[in-house]
Amino acid sequence: MSTDRDHQVLVVGAGPVGLMTALCLAERGVKVRILEKEWRPTLHSFALALHPESLRTLEEFGLAHDLTKMGRKLEKVAFYEAGDRLGEIDYAALHSAHPYLLVLPQSTLETALEEKLRHHKVQVEWNHQALAFHQDSQGVQVEIAELEKVSLGYPIARSEWAIRRKSTVNVDYVVAADGYRSMTRQSLGIRYADYGHAQTFFVFEFPYAGEMPAEMRIVLGKGHTSVFWPIEGGRGRWSFEVDMSETETPGIDQFRKLLKERAPWFSPAPESIYWSTLIRFDRRLAVNCGEGRVWLAGDAVHATGPVGIQSMNVGLREAGLIARNLASSLQGGGEGGLAGYESSCRTEWHELLGVEGGPTADAQAPSWVQKDPGRIIPCIPGSGEDLGRLLSQIGMQYKPRAASSS
Ligand SMILES: Cc1cc2nc3c(=O)[nH]c(=O)nc-3n(C[C@H](O)[C@H](O)[C@H](O)COP(=O)(O)OP(=O)(O)OC[C@H]3O[C@@H](n4cnc5c(N)ncnc54)[C@H](O)[C@@H]3O)c2cc1C
Repeated sequence: MSTDRDHQVLVVGAGPVGLMTALCLAERGVKVRILEKEWRPTLHSFALALHPESLRTLEEFGLAHDLTKMGRKLEKVAFYEAGDRLGEIDYAALHSAHPYLLVLPQSTLETALEEKLRHHKVQVEWNHQALAFHQDSQGVQVEIAELEKVSLGYPIARSEWAIRRKSTVNVDYVVAADGYRSMTRQSLGIRYADYGHAQTFFVFEFPYAGEMPAEMRIVLGKGHTSVFWPIEGGRGRWSFEVDMSETETPGIDQFRKLLKERAPWFSPAPESIYWSTLIRFDRRLAVNCGEGRVWLAGDAVHATGPVGIQSMNVGLREAGLIARNLASSLQGGGEGGLAGYESSCRTEWHELLGVEGGPTADAQAPSWVQKDPGRIIPCIPGSGEDLGRLLSQIGMQYKPRAASSS
């Protein structure tokens, strides 16, 4: 067993939100350590777009310029119902330095954040899993396992991750950005409250030979939503909301069939797919954002539909707020930090999940908006003040109550 008093904050999880949290803390001079149980960053581009607000935050770290060169800028979001184009939202209305969505693989973002962290002499500790926490008024003790791959060999060659060694660290605070299944949230006994029904999606990433539109396209069908993302490098991604009873990973035939039914305007028909998956998205919010000296962030706290990429992007902003509050607590600014973070986070998510105070439709809004405004909100890649400006273009109103932070 070893102890560690060289660090003030331990970040658990090197997904986009954990990396951003560690970076924001390091920028504020906080001594931070970051652990990740996997052995490398994700290879897939799950959450594939950055909102203008995220780009503004990344600009503060000198990252936005390079990232924009690596991604694809989309200026609009267009809405369809089968063959009809219903309306659009134009990001030019934001008068921002980044009036667009940036389509970028999640792995590219993570690599850039990791590199920036290295400038602060903070290395992600891959293959390190947080196992358990014990906290008191002085700090948090965390049990960590270093993992290694062991070969199980004969009779069929296979390998498995095993614990190489265990250690214990003592830190002032823990920020757990350990994802949807957050072990930390569970060990704190913090439950999720569900807001609305879960959605299941078939996702297909494929070589796309057609003309790349400078917009993301959302198809509002009866009881299902589908979305097309043009991606850099001649790729496209379609996600189709399907029945909850689906359990099998879909193939190319299903892909072509869904396209014909839901987006007959789409061409050329895909000839192959790079990968496909079936994934379920809940609409949930943890009832607390942590306890005492252990705080939660990102998917560990919230989940929503995938279309507007809100969970990751709002999570990136939460990282800034956590860093500000934690740095203040560490400098003797009191223990009110978690309460401040929690109140801001929960207020915003109550609005985004339609619990209270969220966007509403004007009487003059087009009929496709009036029909079900609650359905539109998770589909818009934006949050905070930007979301209000974007929604106003389709006859909706939204004034966020939580203070925007970065
Ligand atoms: C297949 C798939 C498709 C997706 N598609 C979309 C989409 O279309 N749109 C969208 O908005 N979102 C999508 N998402 C969700 C999106 O990836 C997340 O919102 C985003 O990654 C959240 O970032 P995060 O940093 O909070 O959590 P994650 O990215 O989940 O990162 C958490 C990290 O913590 C690590 N970890 C967990 N427990 C421990 C531990 N005990 N010790 C150390 N490390 C630990 C995990 O290995 C992981 O790397 C998708 C997710 C998946 C899996």
